[in-house]
Amino acid sequence: MSLYFGPSGLGPTENAIKTLEEFHKLGIKACEIAFTRGIYIKEKKDALEIGKKAKELGIKLSIHAPYWINLNSLEKEKIEQSKQRILECCKVGTYLGAYRVVFHAGFYLKMDKEKVYENIKQAMLDIQKEIKAKGYTPKLAPETMGKINVFGSVEEIHKLYEETNCEFCIDFAHVLARYKDYRFKETLELFKKSKELHIHFSGIEYGEKGEKNHKKTTKEEIQKLLSALPKDKEIVIINESPDMIKDSIEGLKIIEKIYK
Ligand SMILES: [Zn+2]
Repeated sequence: MSLYFGPSGLGPTENAIKTLEEFHKLGIKACEIAFTRGIYIKEKKDALEIGKKAKELGIKLSIHAPYWINLNSLEKEKIEQSKQRILECCKVGTYLGAYRVVFHAGFYLKMDKEKVYENIKQAMLDIQKEIKAKGYTPKLAPETMGKINVFGSVEEIHKLYEETNCEFCIDFAHVLARYKDYRFKETLELFKKSKELHIHFSGIEYGEKGEKNHKKTTKEEIQKLLSALPKDKEIVIINESPDMIKDSIEGLKIIEKIYK
């Protein structure tokens, strides 16, 4: 098994090379670049340079797309804008050499869940077509969501994976918040044919309706996750707690203890 542990967030473009070097010194092997509030790496040359450095240091890059995405909007224009945002991430991701573009696919909007699934699936097929035409290299990774009124149950993401040839992001903190249980076994079973697992993890506060907020990961939680993971896959674990660099380092220490 190869395990790549790292934080969500690279920080500003102008410090990116330095940040990657610091990550490398800390033993961090993955980083998800957060375009959640906008695709902030604007210049192709910056993206190429960051990608080259990450590759050199053995840091696997992924991208988290903007939060303003809803592939099930009632307004056609908003669906188009959502598709464009994902495609723009794929374009920058190609320069960066990022292997996944993670995104929150959409909302139910009190519609029939089957219909919502079909709308999102269709939008994803459109995006895939464009990705192919443009030769973009990152794979789409819709994420399992923590709020029960948001599209992204484990089953829905699995169905997209089966029917659109996309990849996926399993956020186990979200799974816990949505189902009140990590459901490690059932979830991993569904995605067992995939050779690479992209996972988000952190502590989480949740209630009846699911996710409230992310919090620091405890040692026990990281241990639980690590012992549940299969041993025959490439696994990227992105830590999304408020203290993600420290949490990633804690995680690394636990991994060293388990696998050395
Ligand atoms: Zn997310």
